[in-house]
Amino acid sequence: MSINVALDGPSGAGKSTIAKMAAARLGFVYVDTGAMYRTIAYYVIGKGISPDDSEAVKAALPEINIELKNEGTQQVFLNGENVSDLIRTPEISMGASKVSAIPEVRAFLLGLQKDIAAKNDIIMDGRDIGTVVLPDAQVKIFLTASAEERANRRFKELQEKGDPSTYEEVLADINQRDYNDTHRDIAPLKQAEDAVLVDSSALTLEETAEEIVKVITEKTGKKKERRVRELMPVRPITKTHRLTHIKMFLYTFLRFIVLGLYHLFYDISFEGTENVPKDGGNVFASNHRSYQDPVFIALHTRVPISYMAKEELFKHNIFFTGLIKFFGAFPVSRGKGDTAVIDTSIEKLEKGRNLVIFPEGTRSKDGKVGPGKTGVALVAAVAQTKIVPVGIVFEGKLAFRKKVTVRYGKPLTPAEIGVKGTDPRSLKKLKLRIMEDITGLVEKDVNEV
Ligand code: C5P
Repeated sequence: MSINVALDGPSGAGKSTIAKMAAARLGFVYVDTGAMYRTIAYYVIGKGISPDDSEAVKAALPEINIELKNEGTQQVFLNGENVSDLIRTPEISMGASKVSAIPEVRAFLLGLQKDIAAKNDIIMDGRDIGTVVLPDAQVKIFLTASAEERANRRFKELQEKGDPSTYEEVLADINQRDYNDTHRDIAPLKQAEDAVLVDSSALTLEETAEEIVKVITEKTGKKKERRVRELMPVRPITKTHRLTHIKMFLYTFLRFIVLGLYHLFYDISFEGTENVPKDGGNVFASNHRSYQDPVFIALHTRVPISYMAKEELFKHNIFFTGLIKFFGAFPVSRGKGDTAVIDTSIEKLEKGRNLVIFPEGTRSKDGKVGPGKTGVALVAAVAQTKIVPVGIVFEGKLAFRKKVTVRYGKPLTPAEIGVKGTDPRSLKKLKLRIMEDITGLVEKDVNEV
């Protein structure tokens, strides 16, 4: 029998993000039922039907065919058209809240939802999953957060997309949707009696996901987290968010200033800059010589980078911490699970950043490229994204006016060398190829002499 996890809660509690993270860790399929209601709202609004006009909405139902496909991430198809991005606007959110109060709409989707749950181990998120759709689910979780905190999060998200809504509008919207969802006659939003309550107001995404995974593993007993390498599903990055123009402008401006300073300070040269992709969402895999490496690499990426750095580095002096943060450092604490780091990395790529990884893990003192760890291959294989190899070359220690060469190699995609999954063999193959490319760049001078 398949394992069903029902995750309910109000709008903006972070259900979908958390459900996705937990599903990836447990090897479950994530099912977003809100997307189904949104799709119906999208269809009727497109037809010029008001979502309040229940008779007209009902009449339109037979024209609607909704399919969920797992193409790495869940994609929603309306009559064959992929509408996954089109259904994420405030207008459609409100429309979904309205059409979801129509009993025939709920009945229409119920069969589809039950059917998916019967066939797969799933985490299904929505409003009435624990109470109506899957009353027998082995695990029920009610995820909530204060209205202000939820509004705050949604507001930031909308701002990143360039949406002009104000915080007050977003809060009013959340309150209105809460009201609609809890006051409707049919399947109102409420915590199932046997659901575990998780309040995420004061938790980070990571902490919330951990809490949810803990509840699920405890309740289902047998279903412990399997080894990450066996279960990390591929979720290709299809479309990355774009940074706002103002952010891009500021970034580019500051990057050129820092580039100028580095040219003064070091005898630095860059090769292969034509290999650097113009867009974001790429992995830069480099040998590791110094703490300046991420900056060296970022000086010619047009889109900001992110890279993982030891927590200790954030305790240095303010200038250093400010510099590494500006260049996208995010802390990883030792001892935290692999999956958490991978998830954060993928999130950065999805946000349109370029991700810099040093597969060797530690800095090499003599400039020789050491053996690589598999993490780089895992991130690239999960995201199925481009990998740009980088070689950083200088002799001895970094010092004033030291000759430094930064080489960007030809980008490579996992698919290109036949790596389509995250099985250990594929990862090894990808890792070896990446290390080979990096070594080639570092040893270029040696070979040319
Ligand atoms: O979760 P999301 O915000 O995408 O859901 C959009 C709307 O769909 C919600 O405001 C809610 O009214 C409705 N919904 C529902 N039952 C579900 C999932 C969503 O009524 N199971």
